[in-house]
Amino acid sequence: MPKADLDRLYVQIAGLIRARREDAGLTQEELGRRVGLTRGSITNLESARQRVQLDKLFEIAEALGVPLAALLPAPAEGERLEIPGEALRGLPAGAREWVQEMMVLPAGGGGPVVVAGLEKLKKLRDYVAGGGLETGIPNLCTEVRVLSGVSGTPIPVEQAAQGLGILIRYGPAAPGVEVALYQANTSALIAVNSLRPAARQRFALAHSLGHAILHDRVVTIDTGFPDSEGDEGAANAFAAELLVPVEGLWQELGGKAVDYEDDEEVRPWAEKYKVSARVMAGRLAAAARL
Ligand SMILES: [Zn+2]
Repeated sequence: MPKADLDRLYVQIAGLIRARREDAGLTQEELGRRVGLTRGSITNLESARQRVQLDKLFEIAEALGVPLAALLPAPAEGERLEIPGEALRGLPAGAREWVQEMMVLPAGGGGPVVVAGLEKLKKLRDYVAGGGLETGIPNLCTEVRVLSGVSGTPIPVEQAAQGLGILIRYGPAAPGVEVALYQANTSALIAVNSLRPAARQRFALAHSLGHAILHDRVVTIDTGFPDSEGDEGAANAFAAELLVPVEGLWQELGGKAVDYEDDEEVRPWAEKYKVSARVMAGRLAAAARL
């Protein structure tokens, strides 16, 4: 690798460590303590003055509660996916390049696990096409959990997508793009902007998974998640239900009233489900209506 590229790689890793640490609400000193480094060393790693060792990067990911992939820039080698020009139209500066850079399948494809997963994704799409949504989004999300083999709170949303054969890549993007989805018969990929807060990345992943199951498009790029009708509203509703199943929440509340307009009351629930306070308030309101 040419020296300039290598330098750029470490600058990207440095930026990702800083962003993920800030998401986790840790100071440089606190992160240092968890991984056996001084505050000064963390400062050096986060400014790329010092290159992080691989074993240390593993420890940092664990200390921050993120997958190692969240601290690594996307590799540039592999099969470049063809993105139709119209899908890129209107994107903010930098976002276009990011999408094109991220839409690369790893060399050699994903193997048998991906093929088996994609068959499950197709089953879900058939379920929707066959009128499955008429029984409600909660039932669809139950199907997703069963087929992808995930359970628990907070739901491992990354594993859910991977269980359906979707490859996930994280990469730092300019502001203005959240997530991009590519899907075809033999491959599906979701690219997540790794500079966004952790709860936001989880929502982006769940929202994009909603598009993959619900909508017939090769490429879907989200620059935000506004409240709206139509496809965006459906993907938002899917994401909210996948992350915080309303029936389960209602049972967990056990008749206890939570004031969902009170930030203090909402916060512990948001932390438990790893969603934003705004999403959690919406789910608490929905559970209160059951
Ligand atoms: Zn969307």
